[in-house]
Amino acid sequence: MNPFVFKNPTKLIFGEGQNEVLAKEVARYGKRVLVVYGGGSIKRNGLYDHVIGQLKEINAEVVELAGVEPNPRLTTVKKGIELCQQHDIEFILAVGGGSVIDATKAIAVGAKYEGDIWDVITKKDTPQSALPFGTILTLAATGSEMNAGSVITNWETSQKVGWGSPFSFPTFSILDPKNTLSVPEDQTIYGMVDMMSHVIEAYFHHAENTLLQDRIMESILLTVMETAPKLLEDLQNVEHRETILYCGTMALNGITQMGLRGDWASHNIEHAVSAVYDIPHAGGLAIIFPHWLRYSLDEKIERHVKLATRVLGVDPTGKSDRDIALEGIEKLSAFWTKIGAPHRLADYKIDRSQIERMAGIAAENGEFGNFKKLNKEDVENILTAAL
Ligand code: NAP
Ligand code: FE
Repeated sequence: MNPFVFKNPTKLIFGEGQNEVLAKEVARYGKRVLVVYGGGSIKRNGLYDHVIGQLKEINAEVVELAGVEPNPRLTTVKKGIELCQQHDIEFILAVGGGSVIDATKAIAVGAKYEGDIWDVITKKDTPQSALPFGTILTLAATGSEMNAGSVITNWETSQKVGWGSPFSFPTFSILDPKNTLSVPEDQTIYGMVDMMSHVIEAYFHHAENTLLQDRIMESILLTVMETAPKLLEDLQNVEHRETILYCGTMALNGITQMGLRGDWASHNIEHAVSAVYDIPHAGGLAIIFPHWLRYSLDEKIERHVKLATRVLGVDPTGKSDRDIALEGIEKLSAFWTKIGAPHRLADYKIDRSQIERMAGIAAENGEFGNFKKLNKEDVENILTAAL
């Protein structure tokens, strides 16, 4: 494996009943609190009232930023930064899924940054500090609750950009599986595809001697695949919600990627697609990933064979490596289709008209992908195959 340093400062507060510790956790950081949330799901399921009640207990002065959109936008981030400055905010609390948390990361850094936050997001400059922020996660998917990553869309320039900094880790994240009981079926499916995609991105690497990392990743994938059908049969089952919630965090909190570098091209291609069509992130991944896997087949086929045999249940007897790998990809695709994820770009009414544009966006900084290098033409080929 590659030499590595691992540091993850987020305090993970996990399990049923953990909502109750919110007041105590926030009180460590100050009284003037910006609460950031999305389109209203937390008002419908009662979590909003609980949060405001807890903040009242510590006499917090609460300012709110509501309406963070799925695929959060730069304009919303800027509104949040303004609120922080106007109200001299001391702490930000994100209550929601990956979109709310990602927006909060950019707001927290932006509140302490003198220039335009877009320069940080596009890596023209590096931030030196941030307001502290915590999260209450309501959707198992991105891992954003325990990592430094954030993805922000600039709708004016059709760019969806991932960024991160040592200052964009949450100070704490509260994960109570009961907060995810109201997640509708489609978002539950997307969340499971997203966490599986995070693991598969990491699985395709060129590092040697990653026996433990591989086993950790395989365990997460097998656990999601074992639990997904049971959860979809019974969306109110707290135990299955808990398992999936834990998987989502473990899939992208850095543990799978110690000593190796995953590929991440499929995420980059998906970001280009949702920058143009505003589709759900993991809907795009379910469509693109199988085609990326086929496209990268000849790049270190042992990785494909390992995934196919150890995770996807392919019997290798009498088969060539290529056939084993191809059967694995078929099985992954079939699993995602079976649980209800989309399969083709046409499912989102995406035709070939914008393929060149999306490929240009994905490859705007040149070749990308750490396992297999892709250029603009490669992206066009992958997206065309996915039509
Ligand atoms: P999301 O965009 O945060 O939320 C999707 C939908 O689910 C929203 O409509 C939201 O409603 C609803 N929802 C959330 N919790 C709910 C609950 N408990 N009950 C009912 N509805 C609920 O979804 P996400 O998949 O977590 O985040 C996607 C974003 O994260 C994308 O922009 C993606 O690119 C990014 N991402 C980030 C990372 C990272 O490491 N930072 C990794 C992968 C992807 P409300 O708006 O009403 O809350
Ligand atoms: Fe993702």
